[in-house]
Amino acid sequence: MKQQVLILGAGFAGMWAALSAARLTDLHDRSDIEITVLAPQPELRIRPRFYEAGVESFAPPLLPLFAATGVKFITGSASEIDVANKQVWYHTAQEQLAAIHYDRLVLATGSHINPIFPGAKEHAFDVDQLESAARLEKHLNQLAEQPESDARNTVVVCGGGFTGIELATELPARLRAILGETTQARVIVADRSPVVGGHYSEELCDVIKQASDELGVEWMLNAEIASIDEHGVTFKNGDFIASHTVVMTMGVQASPLTGQIPATRDAQGRLHVDENLKVIGQEDIYATGDVAYARTDDKGNTALMTCQHAIMLGRFVGNNVAADIIGVAPHPYRQVNYVTCLDLGGFGAVYTEGWDQVVKSTRAEAKKIKVAITSELIYPPKADKAIAFAAADPLAPFV
Ligand SMILES: Cc1cc2nc3c(=O)[nH]c(=O)nc-3n(C[C@H](O)[C@H](O)[C@H](O)COP(=O)(O)OP(=O)(O)OC[C@H]3O[C@@H](n4cnc5c(N)ncnc54)[C@H](O)[C@@H]3O)c2cc1C
Repeated sequence: MKQQVLILGAGFAGMWAALSAARLTDLHDRSDIEITVLAPQPELRIRPRFYEAGVESFAPPLLPLFAATGVKFITGSASEIDVANKQVWYHTAQEQLAAIHYDRLVLATGSHINPIFPGAKEHAFDVDQLESAARLEKHLNQLAEQPESDARNTVVVCGGGFTGIELATELPARLRAILGETTQARVIVADRSPVVGGHYSEELCDVIKQASDELGVEWMLNAEIASIDEHGVTFKNGDFIASHTVVMTMGVQASPLTGQIPATRDAQGRLHVDENLKVIGQEDIYATGDVAYARTDDKGNTALMTCQHAIMLGRFVGNNVAADIIGVAPHPYRQVNYVTCLDLGGFGAVYTEGWDQVVKSTRAEAKKIKVAITSELIYPPKADKAIAFAAADPLAPFV
């Protein structure tokens, strides 16, 4: 019987894990190892673009790529990991409960936003998943049909992290296109931090401030949200902003499946993994992408919940899980380089290098880098075995 490597999730980490595992088994001519991906859809959802218009088109298909590389795909959603019996229970596309055995399991089920404020689940939007981002896009496009009011013309973005900033700076142009050039639309970023940009480097914060001022994006600082309803947002100090469009961007948590694996997790629910990305304390279970709490270097840096890290975590975990079965040396996960490229809407973008976020370029020059990253670099490789395997090599250069 074939040895089963089961990968849960077809996001950045899961897709690259599958390609990297298939690459190593191919290199060692091990047709007795089967690589299977189980996920709700055979597509790579490009979450970093979900703040843009046209969100439903950001989901390139994966079946041709998996067919070209010998990766098996099962449509399903995992509900239970039975660690003792090495099997996963899942719901099929037809909502039937089924089980699948594994010899090695790779958890790559990503993260999701956790709407913790009263009323957020019912009344707030988000750009976290394709369905919810599409719901926001539809709502924005229908705003012009509502009677003119402050609430119609105001969008409140809750959270001033990268996602909140990218969405907020994109919105003025989108709202002008929807509501007309003469409408006084407001975009307000509400953040609990006392400064714009929170904990980012001073240089980066300065660029974010400049872009916000130029685009007319307002910041409400020291803002503690109390609740959200159909009329707008109420803050703990009693302030209220009337808005029909409140968008949550904070409170991201690792997939709840992490809680089914007996192991240490961080505050966001990510599983602690060793340098080969095996869950600490587990023999056959690996974690990768947004569900993994992994060291990136020897200086104390750890992987962030970004696709920049998920891609490399995927390439390493796929290699290492296959290496474990084949009996060859794994490649310890290392990702020393770290860059940020933040879209700033009509202002352009800002590109920084290093963990201290040194600004290297801004405006149109940085925007070119941003477009290259989000519309090329992070997309799946061509459905061609040689091309895909070359890209899946964990030691191949990335950023
Ligand atoms: C709006 C937005 C902007 C972002 N911008 C950036 C950016 O500029 N740069 C950057 O580096 N990162 C950015 N990110 C973060 C980045 O998208 C994530 O870090 C990345 O998607 C994580 O990859 P992943 O493979 O771990 O998880 P995901 O990409 O979330 O993939 C998870 C996979 O698991 C599947 N899955 C979930 N539950 C189950 C289940 N029960 N059973 C089976 N399969 C399951 C999903 O369907 C999916 O296939 C952004 C995210 C958002 C939402």
